[in-house]
Amino acid sequence: MDCLFCKIIKGEIPSTKVYEDDKILAFRDINPQAPTHILVIPKEHIDGVDALNEENAAVVAHIFAKIAEIAKNEGLVNGFRVVSNVGEDGGQTVRHLHFHILGGKKLDTQMA
Ligand code: 5GP
Ligand code: ZN
Repeated sequence: MDCLFCKIIKGEIPSTKVYEDDKILAFRDINPQAPTHILVIPKEHIDGVDALNEENAAVVAHIFAKIAEIAKNEGLVNGFRVVSNVGEDGGQTVRHLHFHILGGKKLDTQMA
């Protein structure tokens, strides 16, 4: 399977890691849309939020526990945004589940 984020997990494509354990990886977005822009992904390939189910969704709780920790480490004390784009209408360009952490400035309130 030709998945960009699976290649990043395997180290075949370099990334700037901010957190890693046996289940997940967090790294800086190559095209940041805010002063802090981090992507958090499961190491298991899951297509997106639309592919979550009772069997594979436990990793999402782990991701969110670490998002809180990562945001603190990044100094995002005044808040931040977590976004997951899904499918074509959602603007998902990489079909491997990921959560964007955006912060470091007052973000646009426009959601769509
Ligand atoms: P999506 O548009 O699917 O929600 O988010 C994909 C994100 O991956 C985009 O914000 C894009 O900038 C980022 N991205 C795409 N290719 C790479 C890459 O090779 N390295 C890193 N670090 N980020 C990437
Ligand atoms: Zn993948």
